[in-house]
Amino acid sequence: MSDCLFCKIIAGEIPGNTVFENDKVYAFRDINPQAPVHVLVVPKKHMDNILQCDAETAAALTDAVQQIAASEGVAESGFRLVSNCGRDGAQSVNHLHIHLMGGKQLPERMG
Ligand code: AMP
Repeated sequence: MSDCLFCKIIAGEIPGNTVFENDKVYAFRDINPQAPVHVLVVPKKHMDNILQCDAETAAALTDAVQQIAASEGVAESGFRLVSNCGRDGAQSVNHLHIHLMGGKQLPERMG
C-alpha cells in the first residue's frame, strides 16, 4: 500500500533496523522502544490488522516470533506480545504488527 509507513520500511524506502526477514515476514526495532527488547513483527503483505490476517500469515508470524525470541535472548526469561487493533486498541500504524517486548520484568497491568 503506497501510503503505508510499514510497507515503505519493508520496501526499503524508509530505513528500518532489521532484526529478522524471510519471504513472508519482516521484523525491525521499534523507533520508540518500551522495553530493552522491542521488536515489531509484521507481514510483508499489507493487511490493516489482525481482523484481516489469514492462517498462513498467522503461522508465519508465529514462526518468526519464536525465532526472534531466541535470537534476542528472551525465550527463556519471557516476553510479551501485543497487537493493537483499531481506535480503542490505540493502533497508530494501520499495518498489522506484533510488538515483541522483553528484556526486563514487564508490568502486570496492561490496560
Ligand atoms: P501501534 O501504536 O501499536 O500502531 O504501534 C506502532 C509502533 O510503530 C509504535 O510503537 C511506534 O513507536 C513504531 N514506529 C513508528 N514509526 C516507526 C519507524 N519509522 N520505525 C520503527 N518503529 C516505528
